Amino acid sequence: MRYAVISDVHGNLEALKKVLSEIKSEAVDEVLFLGDAVGYGPEPNECIELLKKGCRIMLAGNHDWAALGLTDVSYFNSVALEAIQWTIDVLKDKNRKFLGTFPLLKRLDKLLLVHSTPKQPEQWHYLFTYRDAEVNFQLFEEWVCLIGHSHQPVIIERLPSGELITCKDEAYLRHDARYIINVGSVGQPRDGNPKAAYAVLDLDKTTISIKRVEYEISLTQEKMRKAGLPEYLIERLSYGR
Ligand code: ZN
Repeated sequence: MRYAVISDVHGNLEALKKVLSEIKSEAVDEVLFLGDAVGYGPEPNECIELLKKGCRIMLAGNHDWAALGLTDVSYFNSVALEAIQWTIDVLKDKNRKFLGTFPLLKRLDKLLLVHSTPKQPEQWHYLFTYRDAEVNFQLFEEWVCLIGHSHQPVIIERLPSGELITCKDEAYLRHDARYIINVGSVGQPRDGNPKAAYAVLDLDKTTISIKRVEYEISLTQEKMRKAGLPEYLIERLSYGR
């Protein structure tokens, strides 16, 4: 089985189209989506509709829940709030309903899929440190846990000795180790690289690789300006910050 894993599209249709077309050439069996279809970007409806066509599994992220009024947004910064209010206003009813069917967590073979962390997925914790990783490794049984949310791709390996190691782009997945893998963000990368990110997980070869693909950032930015979305959100796409 060979999966493409995508996350954090955030209404960026240009990035999503480019990633899905790259994925076509990867000969994957299924596409898995880890949440945040909407929020920040200018085309939430189009992204939901395209994800629906292309993905086997679709999870909810904190921005999806915020757009549905299902989560507390008091911790959102002012630009995120402004963008989510804009999203609520433009979201079509049928897409809102469909978004409401996305689960927070899914188990698939030896995989656990979740937007934020295995620990209290509905609390939207971030996983940044080895300490965070260690806490979470204790909270799931599966071989590999796939996450998004921070928009920063990383592969964290837990060796049988308990030692944690980080790999950046690619790893051979050992059967005696366990993994937490952040697949990065399609629509708003924040690791200093503005290219859209996604992952290819090959369960037969037991490999994971984080891929980056260029898309027309200026086209998304133009649409954001037309929509009146905050300038800060428009600018950050150029820098991947
Ligand atoms: Zn996100």
